Amino acid sequence: MELIYEKSRAGRRGVLLPASDVPTAAVLPKSLLRAESARLPELSELETVRHFTNLSRRNFSVDTNFYPLGSCTMKYNSKAIEEAAKLFGDFHPMTALLPGGERYAQGNLAMVHHLGELLTEITGMDEVTCQPLAGAHGEMTGIMLIAAYHRAKGNKKRYVIVPDSSHGTNPASAAMAGYEIITIPSAPYGDMDLDEFKAKMNGEVAAVMMTCPNTLGLFNPHIREICDIAHSFDALVYYDGANTNAILGKVRPGDLGFDVIHLNLHKTFGTPHGAGGPGSGPVGVKQALVPFLPMPRVVKKDGAYSLETDNAASIGRVSSFFGNFGVMVKAYAYILMLGRQGLIKVSEQAVLNANYIMSQLKSHYDLPYDFTCMHECVFSASRQLKHGVHAIDIAKYLIDRGFHPPTVYFPLNVKEAIMIEPTETESKETIDAFIAVMKEAAEMAEKDPEALHQAPVTMPVTRLDETKAAREQAVCYSKW
Ligand SMILES: *Cc1c(COP(=O)(O)O)cnc(C)c1O
Repeated sequence: MELIYEKSRAGRRGVLLPASDVPTAAVLPKSLLRAESARLPELSELETVRHFTNLSRRNFSVDTNFYPLGSCTMKYNSKAIEEAAKLFGDFHPMTALLPGGERYAQGNLAMVHHLGELLTEITGMDEVTCQPLAGAHGEMTGIMLIAAYHRAKGNKKRYVIVPDSSHGTNPASAAMAGYEIITIPSAPYGDMDLDEFKAKMNGEVAAVMMTCPNTLGLFNPHIREICDIAHSFDALVYYDGANTNAILGKVRPGDLGFDVIHLNLHKTFGTPHGAGGPGSGPVGVKQALVPFLPMPRVVKKDGAYSLETDNAASIGRVSSFFGNFGVMVKAYAYILMLGRQGLIKVSEQAVLNANYIMSQLKSHYDLPYDFTCMHECVFSASRQLKHGVHAIDIAKYLIDRGFHPPTVYFPLNVKEAIMIEPTETESKETIDAFIAVMKEAAEMAEKDPEALHQAPVTMPVTRLDETKAAREQAVCYSKW
């Protein structure tokens, strides 16, 4: 495909604008004025529209294809919530921050406040901050809150405990906040080994970070006991709630004994994600951590909303303005649109879909942890490996057949992992079509493994070097 600069023809225009009558020289100093025109491609409107439309059609998205990416909840994002975000589009983020500006931002502040209340109710926490800009940012904020708690109490703490199935951001966030990591292996039943945990737990542990259901899609039946043990050492328990699709309206982490949670609005709460953002990772805490929450906090007094900025105990700001406001509006609209009953149906349908896929594919793929799953299931391609076919080969084949690959090689404790999360928004027909192609891939692994090594063959590029593709991206036009 030709790049847009190569399509450029000198003098070609998409729109004709009247000559500028703004005396730029009077407004801007000479040093800031352009000496020559920016080197932009020159095209007609139609050529431009075609170029970008065709580019967009080379992308996989939930709007175009089934996207069963495990641990990532790529659900369909309804167009109605985009409309809701538009309602707030005219608001300038400085408005509420200028002296006296809060009274012009009552609707916006009310939205942030009410979203916090809804998430508090959903998670069973006492207060929520919506400032963090991503899940990992929420984790970092949560661990900083935990550190502030221990500092205020004079507790000497050094370690954070994570199970080996945890998302990589968990140990990374804890390490960035200054803690050393203790990793607990998984037991044969798929969850953190309880005896190992008890043996490693000690008075210097600041926090235990859990994902429940974990990244194998399993709900830990010992979670209450784990929280109680941690609390007996004055360690706090952190809930990685990036994917709460399995528990919405069913169980509240706050009721289970968790002290801190982050949510990914851009996974569970129907807001788009991918390509690095924008996201939103609100953090919910129990009362003991409320004094340390980031500033500014939206508070409601005598029916009016204002921003509280003068709290010495706070860990300070973690983002500019209020966080990713647009994403918050979308999540707010999503929650209001579904309501309590709707959210309960989300988790029921998500769990049903995952179990359906699990039961249908068991015949063709190894299932290392064969238990009823929650919102996702994890297979292993170890049976296919006997024919020289890896999880990555199956993933690439799916692209040729019109499906985004599931997550592969994660969680790390499953060899040749294939992690599938169908979400609640897919129809049975789509899920059946996916199951059929997965079975087809398993059969090909036996009969024609070489064909799977070649995949994808229908895409603009074939097999990429996975590491270089991520690390050495050519995102600049090379001829300029
Ligand atoms: C996605 C995810 C995260 C990180 O969220 P980001 O928004 O990508 O930073 C953390 N934990 C789990 C379990 C996740 O799936």
